[in-house]
Amino acid sequence: MLPVERQSKILEWLRREGHLKVSDLSRRLNVSEMTVHRDIRVLVQQGRVLKTYGGISLVQPSTEETGRDAATACSLCRRPVNDRLAMTLTGAGGQIETFCCAHCGVLRFLHRRDEAGDLLGRDFLLGHTVGARTAWYVFDSEIHVPCCEPQLLLFGEREHAERFVRGFGGTVLPFDAAAEELQRRMNPASHCTHCRRPT
Ligand SMILES: [Zn+2]
Ligand SMILES: [Zn+2]
Repeated sequence: MLPVERQSKILEWLRREGHLKVSDLSRRLNVSEMTVHRDIRVLVQQGRVLKTYGGISLVQPSTEETGRDAATACSLCRRPVNDRLAMTLTGAGGQIETFCCAHCGVLRFLHRRDEAGDLLGRDFLLGHTVGARTAWYVFDSEIHVPCCEPQLLLFGEREHAERFVRGFGGTVLPFDAAAEELQRRMNPASHCTHCRRPT
């Protein structure tokens, strides 16, 4: 069986059974656990599968469809949600979207600016929930968290962000400037290279 065939088999079983063990997969597919791990790695990188203790489970397809398990995958990029970096956005209708990190949360907020309600994030230093619109964001820090690029780290207090930057480098920006900077970096062609205004 080709790797892609094994991977689609794995997804098919996951859809049916929800959770699978690596040892199980190795037996069913008649390949070594090493090979299973390689297949899983591909699926995890594609954001389709989550690693769990001793096995894997399926990343849920979308917030609307899943309900209770919605928090396991980012509403925007489908990455597993990193609890420490997570953001949530409440829409005008009260539906809640969860994001893997500030990068996705802020981008989504920009997409839905007109109908977006509360955007909440986690303070990178203290871990508590803070209003994202009044938070401070650090770009280009030496501290690298494995999530979306460019990375934004969120701080509730400007002073904490500034002290963090003194230790670990980077630039501190308030929400609106951070959102603008993020957009610019995601889509450099649409902004003037001199004044950075949208073209
Ligand atoms: Zn994301
Ligand atoms: Zn992310």
